[in-house]
Amino acid sequence: MVLPKTRKAAVKTAEGTFEIKEVPMPEITQPDYVLVKVRGSGVCGSDLHSWKVPRPESVGRITGHEVAGDVVAVGEDVTNVKPGDRVGVDSVIGCGKCYWCRVGQYHLCPDCFKIRSETFAQGFSEYIVGPADHVYKIPDYVGYGEAAIMDVYGTSIHAINRTNTHMDQTVVIIGAGPIGLSLLDLVNIAGAKGIIIDVIDHPLKFAEKTIGAYETINSTKVDPVKRVMELTDGRGADKVFDCVGGGASPTILKQAVDMVRRKGQVALIGAMRPGASLSVDWRKLHWGEIDVVPVSGFYHWENDPEFKIVTDLLIKGKLHATEMITHRFPLEKINEAFETAADKKRTNSIKVIIEQ
Ligand SMILES: [Zn+2]
Ligand SMILES: [Zn+2]
Repeated sequence: MVLPKTRKAAVKTAEGTFEIKEVPMPEITQPDYVLVKVRGSGVCGSDLHSWKVPRPESVGRITGHEVAGDVVAVGEDVTNVKPGDRVGVDSVIGCGKCYWCRVGQYHLCPDCFKIRSETFAQGFSEYIVGPADHVYKIPDYVGYGEAAIMDVYGTSIHAINRTNTHMDQTVVIIGAGPIGLSLLDLVNIAGAKGIIIDVIDHPLKFAEKTIGAYETINSTKVDPVKRVMELTDGRGADKVFDCVGGGASPTILKQAVDMVRRKGQVALIGAMRPGASLSVDWRKLHWGEIDVVPVSGFYHWENDPEFKIVTDLLIKGKLHATEMITHRFPLEKINEAFETAADKKRTNSIKVIIEQ
């Protein structure tokens, strides 16, 4: 296959939007690298934090870390995939050499952000390059968009693993965005009871009808702490997951601590604002032996990478990934795609995918 000299890419502008440009092709610079033609990439909540936010340091950058596509070329040491294979891409990549990478915890590599943004996390472009051990084959019947959002499910399974969530526990998920909904999907597979909370009805209805929730709570209409206490015989939930973060962190953290049981866990999944310093009722945490569990990205769990575990579940038809995708746009319409994802009250969007 003759490869082009340039690729189309959505490049960040000074206003924090995108413009489509021709940029140089990425090259296979390592013997274990593969070149992937991007077919699907997800608009992530973390991408929306910088949508229409002017950031001089981001001008010209190419983003997009939830990706799937076709392998088009491989380095000489690559044995797990070949050109023509359809793959999901785990874009959480470390240097491979530091202590954290050597023990399989590549999501904690100090260079993770830099390395992934120079390799696979350029999904809003036509081609990406990166290490072959971070791509996973998918069969023909699995869509690229679905495979791309295994990045979302990866974070959620990491939350399940970090908190040892298992059958018959009562779990509260605050925030019914893609992370919260994918977490509910996995909570159900784990056999736990999932209560999900949001401030808008549409994703709660989706949680109830499509994924299956033990209970949904619109916190603008019902006091969520009171309701969770009623549902747990006054003890509180075994786990509470904050899947919102950002500016809502102070309110949600307080709610979470108020609705978790003694010896329970509060997991922080939604991204924190830079320099976030949150006040918590530490005495309550101390006396109740309540754990605070931060969850950031994913890596290996026991024998397998967490990204592979969720991709296997997707292949077996266990996830509601297809139903989560409400909107699909071509790369040329990426600004419209971001607008749709950002304005979910108007658009009823859950997961927005760029297709190529
Ligand atoms: Zn993401
Ligand atoms: Zn490293």
